[in-house]
Amino acid sequence: MAKKNSIKCSFCGRPSDMSEVLVPSAIGETYICAECIDQIHEMLGEYRDEAKESAKAAAATDLNKVPRPREINDFLDQYVIGQDAAKKYLSVAVYNHYKRLAQNTDDDVDIEKSNIILVGHTGTGKTLLAKTIARLLDVPFTIVDATVLTEAGYVGEDIESLLTRLLQAADYNVEKAEKGIVFIDEIDKIARKGDNPSITRDVSGEGVQQGLLKLLEGSIVNVPPQGGRKHPEQKMIPVNTKNILFICGGAFDGIEQKIAQRLNTHVVGYSTDSARQRVKRDNYLQYIAPQDLKSFGLIPEIIGRLPILTHLDPLDRDALLRVLTEPKNAIIRQYKKLFEMDNVSLTFAPDALELIVDKAIEFKLGARGLRSIVESIMIDAMYDIPSTDIKQFEVTREYAVEKLQVANFDTSVIK
Ligand code: ADP
Repeated sequence: MAKKNSIKCSFCGRPSDMSEVLVPSAIGETYICAECIDQIHEMLGEYRDEAKESAKAAAATDLNKVPRPREINDFLDQYVIGQDAAKKYLSVAVYNHYKRLAQNTDDDVDIEKSNIILVGHTGTGKTLLAKTIARLLDVPFTIVDATVLTEAGYVGEDIESLLTRLLQAADYNVEKAEKGIVFIDEIDKIARKGDNPSITRDVSGEGVQQGLLKLLEGSIVNVPPQGGRKHPEQKMIPVNTKNILFICGGAFDGIEQKIAQRLNTHVVGYSTDSARQRVKRDNYLQYIAPQDLKSFGLIPEIIGRLPILTHLDPLDRDALLRVLTEPKNAIIRQYKKLFEMDNVSLTFAPDALELIVDKAIEFKLGARGLRSIVESIMIDAMYDIPSTDIKQFEVTREYAVEKLQVANFDTSVIK
């Protein structure tokens, strides 16, 4: 501090005897007076308030750019056939996720996140829904498989590695990752085996659920940046999961029986195949409730952290036909495009399409089987046609039957 008269404030020129104090700079003959400090302090306060306001405004305008639930649903409709209930729940949940991110934290109302659980048979579109949502969003998104996870200390991946993928999707920008969405597939595979808490170790079941709980409810988790097992020498990245939205999917094979039991239907004792068929045909999944997940082996704490529960319908013959041709990315469209690139116009006779669907049903392959069936039918044409002058090619039912026979698909049942 200086008090000599010859010294002046380098900012306003005020001599030292007219100021309470002159503070010298650490790097040379420069001073600042108390009045200038006060003024700067005031300006800085105003600047910081303005910056806070504009950050809030930016978050609010972000919400204006976010697609509304109906728009999200319309987008999903372009790629996913049916599954109206799941689409509606997902659209609202994703929209609300953005609202949470934009929410004003000054008041006492804290919008909590609504993690989602999708229950539906394999090949009905759970992953497709998640992937399609990802196309639309501008938050980091990743799909991970629950089956690779094990309790810490066992062979497999630590639960924290779920977040490694999200970090990678966010280019290791932690702030971005902390607002992302994680789709956990095959959540049913970490159900407790049996309804009773196990006495023996349940390495890939309840232990993993307990670990997952920590992530779902929101906490600061140390994430191994390269995934896999935690190594003591690997530097961990702390990630707060408070704002990460988790969407879980699972087939929960056999859960219909538990639903039927709860609904106290006439289907008692599932000893016969026809009774089982009846349960499936009636689509009991639409009545799914949290207690069914508990009977299946999810612990109540996990169920509580996945408050939005919705189902996917089994795909019937009509739905499979639509899956073949209608979505933007439909299998038939993809083959047409392949042929177009060789200037060949490819068409499928309607009864050939029906044959493909019937094969998928016959082999219990569902939508997942459609592609391999079409591939078996098309392989020869894709091999030969580029070396010919053919400009038009129609796949008839007869042609499809012949090719499937060659590929060892037994067509006798549906010929
Ligand atoms: P899940 O995750 O339910 O087991 P997927 O979403 O992985 O099933 O579906 C497998 C494939 O089947 C998808 O890539 C898609 O081609 C097709 N598919 C399944 N369900 C649908 C659907 N509802 N609409 C359109 N295609 C579907």
